[in-house]
Amino acid sequence: MNDDARPLPTGASGVYLYPAAFEQVVAGLRAGIAAMAADEPFQRLAVPPVISRATLERAGYVASFPQLLGTVHSYPGTPAQWAELAPLAATGGDWHREQRIGDLVLLPAACYPVHASLAGRELAEPVRFAVEASCFRQELTSETGRMRSFRMAELVTAGTEEHCLAWRERWLERVTDWLAGLELKPSVEVADDPFFGRGARLYQAAQRMQQLKFELRVELGEGLVQAVASANIHKEHFGEVFGFTAGGEPGQTACTAFGLERITLALLHAHGPRTGEWPDGLRAQLGLDR
Ligand code: AMP
Ligand code: ZN
Repeated sequence: MNDDARPLPTGASGVYLYPAAFEQVVAGLRAGIAAMAADEPFQRLAVPPVISRATLERAGYVASFPQLLGTVHSYPGTPAQWAELAPLAATGGDWHREQRIGDLVLLPAACYPVHASLAGRELAEPVRFAVEASCFRQELTSETGRMRSFRMAELVTAGTEEHCLAWRERWLERVTDWLAGLELKPSVEVADDPFFGRGARLYQAAQRMQQLKFELRVELGEGLVQAVASANIHKEHFGEVFGFTAGGEPGQTACTAFGLERITLALLHAHGPRTGEWPDGLRAQLGLDR
């Protein structure tokens, strides 16, 4: 097999094609995450790359990150009306001027549909989900590791505050050790999300002060450090928004997110583009010899 794992550009910035050697590493990471998760009862769910627009509106995503959201539009007109627009498609004209926003948007993170699925429940015990999704974010820059379309694996839990705090702490430690075991040396940092517009700084400061988000950062290129994973608590935000409870209080949630392309790119940066030349121990760990 061709062992050159480097992603191929597509002409669209932040969108790449991934060779088989790259996907072998991604599969190894998936297996590694699953092995770490094996001692907790995670329910595995496949997640589609779109989500109800109403769900993301309720979750506060549109208010907080309108600049990142990709909307899905489609053509609501008749074939007769289309006859006028059709020629524009061939000439790069504005064939899309009648497009209307629909009830779905592109999924920006894998955990939103999971939180929404808990609506109406009283969680007698913590619940745990293992998910993966193709995510979309309309990023403004396209340096190495900053894609618009990328895959995110997440471990998600919901329950009481006590549970979520302890769970996040444990997973932050585990993921740090796991990345160190892959010979990536992550720095662990308190982080914030790219809130947009007025009040953004205030939200970011509050998020940092409460230590809601930790990022594990690794070098992806010369002097280019990116977050390859994050460990988050959302407090009662999703319990309140979607209406689920734990111990009679609004349910709390936490998640650990892994950027599958970013971790792979960090390995490529550390060990070179040809996976056949990676250290034997690392190859074995990622199951590349099978
Ligand atoms: P976040 O929800 O921002 O904490 O994202 C979770 C993880 O997804 C990050 O730690 C990254 O590994 C990955 N990720 C986020 N944004 C991007 C992006 N634009 N391109 C590639 N990976 C990303
Ligand atoms: Zn999440």
